[in-house]
Amino acid sequence: MSDAAPPVLISESEIAARVEELARQISADYQDKGDLVLIGVLKGAFIFLADLSRQLTIPRTIEFIAVSSYENSSVSSGAVRLVMDVRGNIEGRHVLIVEDIVDTGRTLEYLIGMLESHGPASIRTCALLHKPGSTEVEVDINYVGFGIGGEWVVGYGLDYAEHNRTLPYIGKVKPSD
Ligand code: 5GP
Repeated sequence: MSDAAPPVLISESEIAARVEELARQISADYQDKGDLVLIGVLKGAFIFLADLSRQLTIPRTIEFIAVSSYENSSVSSGAVRLVMDVRGNIEGRHVLIVEDIVDTGRTLEYLIGMLESHGPASIRTCALLHKPGSTEVEVDINYVGFGIGGEWVVGYGLDYAEHNRTLPYIGKVKPSD
């Protein structure tokens, strides 16, 4: 595909306003719970996590986890593979999984099951984007930025075959471009 700027689906200012709202809501919900561990799902969530975490007003620490399911394709292979586990100890701690986008729900389902085995005090989920029309497995997403259609989106951390990850807005591409 070319690196021509894809059409805007969600603008930079819309993203900023929604991230601020999410941060306010999460800060309020965890106000009295103590330290929160944010687990960003690499690579796609790195920009969302950076912006969200800096606006929280509660004590928080950052971890990363990496999984792979699409393998440079826009069609899910269905199988989720753990590429990198969390480094810190999350036992007895409140965990918030921070995802870029939930499509079929398989990645989030896998992550919740995997992280539960580490014995956290609680696990909640936050996704900047959700494709409700693509759900294959039902998972609770406690905090959602925007619901979108089935289109392939890029920017703000999301890529198409590693292209357009650093675009400041969410754009849509046709995988054949
Ligand atoms: P799921 O397991 O829910 O089907 O897929 C979740 C993962 O698929 C996301 O973390 C993301 O890596 C990838 N994904 C799904 N839809 C899109 C999309 O439209 N754009 C990009 N860049 N990644 C997507």
